[in-house]
Amino acid sequence: MSRAPYLSARLQGFGTTVFAEMSALAVATGSVNLGQGFPDYPGPPEVLDVARAAIGTAADQYPPGPGIPELRQEIAAHVQRFGGPSHDPETEVLVTAGATEALSAALLALLENGDEVVLFEPMYDCYAAGIAMAGGVARPVPLHPPAPSSSTDPAGSWTFDPADLRTAITPRTKILLLNTPHNPTGKVFTREELTLLAEAAVEHDLLVLADEVYEHLVFDDAEHVSMATLPGMRERTLVVGSAGKTFNVTGWKIGWICGPAPLVAAVRTAKQFLTYVNGGPFQPAVAAGLALPDAYFAGVARDLQYRRDVLVQGLAGAGLPVISPEATYFATVDVRPVQPDGDGLAFCRALPERAGVVGVPTVVFYAPEHAHLGRHLVRFAFCKSDAVLADAVERLTGLGRKGSGRS
Ligand SMILES: *Cc1c(COP(=O)(O)O)cnc(C)c1O
Repeated sequence: MSRAPYLSARLQGFGTTVFAEMSALAVATGSVNLGQGFPDYPGPPEVLDVARAAIGTAADQYPPGPGIPELRQEIAAHVQRFGGPSHDPETEVLVTAGATEALSAALLALLENGDEVVLFEPMYDCYAAGIAMAGGVARPVPLHPPAPSSSTDPAGSWTFDPADLRTAITPRTKILLLNTPHNPTGKVFTREELTLLAEAAVEHDLLVLADEVYEHLVFDDAEHVSMATLPGMRERTLVVGSAGKTFNVTGWKIGWICGPAPLVAAVRTAKQFLTYVNGGPFQPAVAAGLALPDAYFAGVARDLQYRRDVLVQGLAGAGLPVISPEATYFATVDVRPVQPDGDGLAFCRALPERAGVVGVPTVVFYAPEHAHLGRHLVRFAFCKSDAVLADAVERLTGLGRKGSGRS
């Protein structure tokens, strides 16, 4: 690969993301964009109205560095309401510019040069870059896909080999970075898996950075278990959350991180020099959202589960074997029946012309040395309105037929 000019050695290899390429393709070809994971429908009025009313007030000015007290209190109450540990809103809760800043600030605060981070792949795209910017080294453990299904039956879950986990942990390992529910796979780590991970964290004295932004977007009888609730984990775990996915406000970038006071203090030190603060008028709105009744959060999951079923049925009907997700915004397909060379990236580059739909090749979520594991997989987002999903499904129908294509 050629060297990108001006770019520091730390960031070589992190060029323009495939998301930008695919979104540009979607615009250029008039395709339905199921690439990026953002909803195309608004959040609850109880949340939006608070933000509207806050603009033009003192909320437009710098909020306190750790976030407004009202929001920190609601974060702590919300975590506890949904089964997490209790937190002191003064010292154990920090509001951040999205989950992304919480993750970057934690990595910058906690890693020395050369410290290692064990994580699962495929992995959310900001992890590898965040680790690299902090001078750390990523040690990925592969997740293996279940056999995809040609119907909407649950396909089973992605799994990992505990031997791969043991190999990935070295004397330099500082952090276990865990994302559950997991993007891009839609996997929800089971209590058994989390117990195994917690035991490894205790045995090797690792800190755990738990990205749980999809905590509420869980389907069927899958159960989200927060890593901080496992024995011995409260004192070594930082849990990251975000308003974006739960309240359909991905552009607001209000996130948070909760954990023991000394760990949160370390993250706050890094965070205050990244953004210092953000989203003044959005902070009271998210506080109102977190206080919504249980029915809201159950409703979000139910609504998204229906959208999942629509897309999964459409993909299966188009001849694409699907791994139906247990959670999140995303379904994964195996492209081999319609792309005999099994190249998911080539499939995604051709799909806009072939069917007028855009997806994202799962290969981009792997470290280069493990890219072969996800080469044949493609991720599609279903957090889209009924009309958009119906249009996408119609366009995909007939993909498996020879010589199909839009005229
Ligand atoms: C969307 C997403 C984020 C980013 O959340 P923001 O609050 O928008 O920064 C972090 N982690 C995962 C797994 C995500 O899918």
